[in-house]
Amino acid sequence: MSLSEQKTELKKMNVPFFKASISEEEEQACTNVLRSGWLTTGKETHEFEKEFAQKINSPFALAVNSNTSGMILAMEALGVKPGKAVITTPYTFVSTAASARHLGADVYFADIEKENYSIDPEKIEEILKSPHGKNVAAIVPVHIAGNVCNMKHIMELAEKYNVKVIEDCAHSFPSKTSLGFAGTIGDAGVFSFYATKTITCGEGGMVCVKDKKTAERILQMRLHGMNRDAWDRYTSNKASWEYDIVASGFKSNLPDILSAIARVQLKKADILDAKRKVHVKKYNDAFSKMDFVKIPPTSEGDACHLYILRLDLLKLKCTRNEFASMLQEMGIGISVHFIPLFHFSYWKKLYPDFTKEKFPEAEKKFQESISIPLWPDMTEEMTKYVIQAVKEIGEKYHA
Ligand SMILES: *Cc1c(COP(=O)(O)O)cnc(C)c1O
Repeated sequence: MSLSEQKTELKKMNVPFFKASISEEEEQACTNVLRSGWLTTGKETHEFEKEFAQKINSPFALAVNSNTSGMILAMEALGVKPGKAVITTPYTFVSTAASARHLGADVYFADIEKENYSIDPEKIEEILKSPHGKNVAAIVPVHIAGNVCNMKHIMELAEKYNVKVIEDCAHSFPSKTSLGFAGTIGDAGVFSFYATKTITCGEGGMVCVKDKKTAERILQMRLHGMNRDAWDRYTSNKASWEYDIVASGFKSNLPDILSAIARVQLKKADILDAKRKVHVKKYNDAFSKMDFVKIPPTSEGDACHLYILRLDLLKLKCTRNEFASMLQEMGIGISVHFIPLFHFSYWKKLYPDFTKEKFPEAEKKFQESISIPLWPDMTEEMTKYVIQAVKEIGEKYHA
């Protein structure tokens, strides 16, 4: 049956993949900053850092203009440089790995676990034990969809092999585990406030670290390698033109306009989280009764940033792409998280033996996964419609 013959009994409805929850409160906070005359990093950003640190119990939180900037800064401060390498997963957004390349370091990839999307600690140890394991400066686990990796095992490896751990927390605010919040377990945790993330200010990020020296290095490298930040120069009585440059730094600070929005979002984080979980429960209840899909792996306390539906392709006569196109034809926004990095020409060219055959779990999950709409203000009709659409397609194409 061709896709165009697909007839639906459902009344068509548009369900966007994502829509940020922004209210008048964010508008007002932003307007206040615009009217204040101070638009870049200042009071709002400093308050946001304090509030964020408090929220997840982190000793230091440093606001940056993206998770990507934060990842580069965290890696730089923790010793990632030419001749060194990081270990991460091919199942991530490209910036996780590209950040190491920006610093002239190499990336060693470890496959994900069989049962979930998390980097496999056994595979990490295989690399650490190998001859090039001695080059590794840091392990970079990615908590896909908010589902926290096996941090207990990863921290044991870090200690055993004397390497740092930098958590990619782009999906995992606020994910809570028995070891503490995601982002406070490793040496650093890097969050994202990009437009589609669990809290957002359009673009933004936060680097959380345990150690004061690391925090100080990031603080300087965040702003041109300057020994005093712009707010300090603006407010201090000391001549504002005086500063020293102590390194060739970056320009990664978060402006107050965005921090003001982020502070309102932070206040709402638990409400937004609870709203997403209501939808997740509805999806889980419905999909666990359908034999052609698997519900995503979650642990108690996970933030549920994405709902990644896994198709059981043995039970279906269509591919993931066909299934996804049918959902789109029915007005449902979808995405695929992620295209594993070994599919990209840059990475294939850089590391010729970085192939899908070497990462069977990542490749399998990629072929089976579709992210379906999950955002706080989805209506009950929307989740019902998505469930019905999945059911209808799955039944029509059942093997
Ligand atoms: C979104 C995302 C990033 C990048 O975040 P930015 O804030 O856009 O730089 C990094 N890692 C993962 C896993 C992501 O999903």
